[in-house]
Amino acid sequence: MSNATSLPAARVVLDWRKGQVSDQPAPCVLCGRPALCRSPAKGLPCHKGCAEAWIQDHAHTPHHLARLIAAHTPKGVAW
Ligand SMILES: [Zn+2]
Repeated sequence: MSNATSLPAARVVLDWRKGQVSDQPAPCVLCGRPALCRSPAKGLPCHKGCAEAWIQDHAHTPHHLARLIAAHTPKGVAW
């Protein structure tokens, strides 16, 4: 079954190599399980995979997808 409003099924992959990591796990804002990663956008505890799935689910257009990916990629990552 196809959904005309959904984006292509391309998987979002964020580059969090320069992202913040805490030494204290805290509940992920998306799934609630302990996470060491911190979201580059807000500094909140968040798994990279959860952020990728959230972006995939919430992007409305390819342009919106690109903006979300940029907003959730740590500064200093060279493209
Ligand atoms: Zn999570």
